[in-house]
Amino acid sequence: MPGTPADVAQVLRDATHAIALTGAGMSTESGIPDFRSAGGVWEKYDPMEVGSLATFMSDPQRFWDFHRPRVGMLSDAKPNPAHLALAELERRGVLKAVITQNIDGLHRAGGSQEVIEVHGAMDRGMCLRCDARVSMDELLARADAAEDGVPRCTQCGFQMKSGVVMFGEPLPEEAISRAYDHAMKADVVLVAGSSLAVTPVNQIPGMVLDRGGTVMILTESDTPYDRQCAVRLRGRVGTDLPAVVAALGET
Ligand SMILES: [Zn+2]
Repeated sequence: MPGTPADVAQVLRDATHAIALTGAGMSTESGIPDFRSAGGVWEKYDPMEVGSLATFMSDPQRFWDFHRPRVGMLSDAKPNPAHLALAELERRGVLKAVITQNIDGLHRAGGSQEVIEVHGAMDRGMCLRCDARVSMDELLARADAAEDGVPRCTQCGFQMKSGVVMFGEPLPEEAISRAYDHAMKADVVLVAGSSLAVTPVNQIPGMVLDRGGTVMILTESDTPYDRQCAVRLRGRVGTDLPAVVAALGET
């Protein structure tokens, strides 16, 4: 069950439709803390409460007080070698899609083309009341200009949100349906930097295993599929994924 980056490369080489599932572990190496893990910058908040649709509706100032510094941190982050390696695997035709829980946009910034962000992304502002859209820069400019730090819609005056899906908000239908399309076609799933704790991404390995496909897991923490995966690496994705690319190049 353990293995090497060369084992991952071998499975990918034989795949007809390989997809990657990624989570917070991809982004920690870009300096973005996993807010689900204990401690860290966010410990004074319960993200599930303050980052929820309910808080956004009832107390937008509290919501934005939590959200604004996080947006600033994410917009400074750069893709790391793990993001670049997945983009390279796609360029070589080895990987067909990246399905991610991450909201930082770093897969796209790293050059991946078919990126499915099932929890949305911090790349625009939107109004839940009238559906107005603005750029992320405009959203932040409005937040920073407002006395209470809450960006507002110029069409209807309602508080605006970013493109990130809030707790309690439905997941974006188009992204979910694309994710399942890939999952139904996939014969290989490469999990990178995810402990597979969050739906819907955590259902995909089971779907692929049920159809006789192969799951490989590159993540430091335990996952529910550790016994069923063909290859299990527990190192840093920023080291292991470039090593997979290098192994593919050698043969
Ligand atoms: Zn509006």
